Amino acid sequence: MGAVAVTATVLAAGLLGPAHAGDADPQGRGGPKEPPKTPVAVGIGGAVSTVDADATAAGLRMLRRGGTAVDAAVAAAAALGVTEPFSAGIGGGGFFVYYDAASGTVSTLDGRETAPATAGADLLLDPEAGEPLPFQEARVSGLSIGTPGTLQTWDDALDRWGRFSLRTTLQPAIRLARSGFVVDETFHSQVEDNADIFADFPASAELFLPDGAPPEVGTKLRNRDLADTYKLIAKHGTDVFYSGEIAEEIAATVQAPPVADDAERVVRSGELSVDDLAGYRVIEREPTLVEYDGLEVYGMGPPSSGGSTVGEALNILENFELDSGDEASALHVYLEASALAFADRNRYVGDPDVIDVPLAELLSQGFADERACEIDPDQAAPKPVAPGSPDGDYAPCGESADAAGAVPGGGSTTHLTTADRWGNVVSYTLTIEQTGGSGITVPGRGFLLNNELTDFNAVPTQGDAPDPNLPGPGKRPRSSMSPTIVLDEGEPFLALGSPGGATIITTVLQTLLNRIDLGMDLPDAVAAPRLSQRNGAVTNAEPAALGTPVAAELEELGHVFSETAEIGAVTGIEFLPRGRMMAVAEPERRGGGSAGVLVPVRR
Ligand code: GLU
Repeated sequence: MGAVAVTATVLAAGLLGPAHAGDADPQGRGGPKEPPKTPVAVGIGGAVSTVDADATAAGLRMLRRGGTAVDAAVAAAAALGVTEPFSAGIGGGGFFVYYDAASGTVSTLDGRETAPATAGADLLLDPEAGEPLPFQEARVSGLSIGTPGTLQTWDDALDRWGRFSLRTTLQPAIRLARSGFVVDETFHSQVEDNADIFADFPASAELFLPDGAPPEVGTKLRNRDLADTYKLIAKHGTDVFYSGEIAEEIAATVQAPPVADDAERVVRSGELSVDDLAGYRVIEREPTLVEYDGLEVYGMGPPSSGGSTVGEALNILENFELDSGDEASALHVYLEASALAFADRNRYVGDPDVIDVPLAELLSQGFADERACEIDPDQAAPKPVAPGSPDGDYAPCGESADAAGAVPGGGSTTHLTTADRWGNVVSYTLTIEQTGGSGITVPGRGFLLNNELTDFNAVPTQGDAPDPNLPGPGKRPRSSMSPTIVLDEGEPFLALGSPGGATIITTVLQTLLNRIDLGMDLPDAVAAPRLSQRNGAVTNAEPAALGTPVAAELEELGHVFSETAEIGAVTGIEFLPRGRMMAVAEPERRGGGSAGVLVPVRR
């Protein structure tokens, strides 16, 4: 395998090269090795699937000690803050979906970042020109940084459903940050992609550019600052972050980003304050629920658009016969349903505490049936398609309205899935938005701050209709994160999620389609080439999805493809008969993920 060969080559180079100063060391013989990565594991007693072997090991450690799926999820997430700091960490936010075996219920926690209390609709506009700031200028600034929700999410989840304290669940990550982890190809390339940004912030450069360059693959990297920060939190609890010394440092960093003296970049300051941090709350929200093919599909409600958009698309798909015998027809309907659901997402979904989201109607079968009438089995609709009217008054076939705007994609994040011996399940997606977030590290604390507020629309996108996702005081930007749990007659069947900005929604949807309708097992459903249609003129397509007979049929139906190297990175667990669990992660994308089980058994 190519990726392995590259790793081995550079590892050899690292062993021969000079030792790094500071916190990066070549990985010597006998030194700690990255645990092996395996994309599929079947066993009993509990399971963990993440993008990273150290994080999966941290989760399994909690399970082994008698912890719950929630203890495992928090330990894994904290470890990802060390090894995947460009996608996850306490400087960001996320959505936590939990199935409780004892009560048979699904709960969700909204740990999304909030805009400062002073934010107006013009947050992302150039004050002089009145135009949207260029994306990178908005991203790499204090303006984009929302109040982080991740740490509070961990604490709230543990309080409700954990057996262990935050202190206990942070221990594996503290050890990892202190003793170091092995830099892999993904880490290296993510630093490389952000190197010019990190170089402009000494606190980021110290952490991620030892010797002024991205750490070599195969070297060991420590993050002692983050180890100390986690230790401080372990000792004093989340208050130290939300109202203590770390809160003051976060606010100071946002209000006066610590830029290198020689940086030429314009770095705007933001207004996030200690009061914003002190006032931050994780919100328990109703999960979204649709029935699909006799299964109950639970997801995350607004401010994420994940649950409503996946749910609406599934309801639309209910109108069609989909089977593996005619993959092109199934994919055609999948792409068309995605476009319709995205049009409605863009028009109607935002922070439900600020705007009215017609969620029940968006998730109703009546609305979906009306939307399904827009799909011509023999021809792709010109994109973008117009949003529908989720008004409770549905005709078998509605009339089309004006076209909606195209949908931006991009971004990065991480998803993890855990389950325990009692049958509890966690599906948790967390992010700092772009890979590398704002690029700004809180000096001396070892973590990057998010740029989540660029998930707001900078200007209205819905023509004469109101835009549900403009910035506002304390508002949570709309997300696409789609942590999902599927039950079959009340028992867990499947849990999964993915990173990938707006493509998260289509990745989750297509993986469900592959597994439920197209006869694939979960590893194949995850590995299969992806297509992503988000109500844009073109459909993103991974290389392996192109040049096939199925692709040719879809092109004949009018679909236009744009080649995209990689879409998403799924982790999930399927629940098999006799208490067995199959943990599944990507075999290749993003360097492959890591699936683990407590007690392996034969597949
Ligand atoms: N910020 C994105 C969202 O909430 C997630 C990060 C990503 O782009 O993957 O939808």
